[in-house]
Amino acid sequence: MDSSIVLFGPPGAGKGTQAGRIVETTGKPQVSTGDMLRAAVAEGTELGKIAKVHMESGGLVPDEVIIGLIKERIKDSDAEGGLLFDGFPRTIPQAEALEKIAPVSMVIAIYVNDESVVERICGRFTCAACGEVYHDVFRPCLVESVCDSCGSSDFTRRADDSEETVRARLSAYHEQTSPLESWYDAKGLLHRIDGNHGIDDVALSIANLFV
Ligand code: ADP
Ligand code: ADP
Ligand code: ZN
Repeated sequence: MDSSIVLFGPPGAGKGTQAGRIVETTGKPQVSTGDMLRAAVAEGTELGKIAKVHMESGGLVPDEVIIGLIKERIKDSDAEGGLLFDGFPRTIPQAEALEKIAPVSMVIAIYVNDESVVERICGRFTCAACGEVYHDVFRPCLVESVCDSCGSSDFTRRADDSEETVRARLSAYHEQTSPLESWYDAKGLLHRIDGNHGIDDVALSIANLFV
């Protein structure tokens, strides 16, 4: 398996928003553990039932569940050229497990201050048809209620994108996920990106990592 890339940062940092362009540049498929878990919850699988409780409270889903999902995902044939992990790993045990099964060549860490995180998450909505990510103020549809990418008018807002849950998700990030920063930095893999700028400016800083 070729080397993978990790997108790292607090909830709402813009990982999903930037992922599409990185996929275009690198050809590595995006793997979002959040999307995988939401699909399992929607299907009502056993795994989905376990995940639901944790996701609703804003806490992290147990490491063994996440590691199991990733182990399955990397068996797919499109993982051969490496993957773009979005929202994984989120704990040191997850990173240690990943290290054993897939090489990582680069960690792109997007930093955004906590108040912007709350503002971003509370205005987020997504096209139900194609997954394009929007924001009421920062990234509205060009034509109101019509997806720029696919023309659909069917949009969803995540149940956990409320101010109360966002605060819990931020605590989980600061307590359990942010220690990964120095862990990856010590391995010389961490690339810091200031995410407190417009979407195109952030995309440019990320693109500069690939020149
Ligand atoms: P993450 O995947 O890190 O949780 P998203 O990409 O879903 O974050 O972005 C969270 C929200 O913030 C979305 O509504 C998105 O449109 C918006 N957003 C993303 N990047 C920026 C940015 N640079 N400036 C302002 N809003 C942004
Ligand atoms: P965000 O937009 O906040 O970055 P995600 O879609 O990545 O959110 O994740 C949503 C929820 O799914 C998290 O709050 C957490 O409960 C769960 N989750 C996603 N990825 C992981 C992971 N790698 N480890 C543990 N829990 C996860
Ligand atoms: Zn769409």
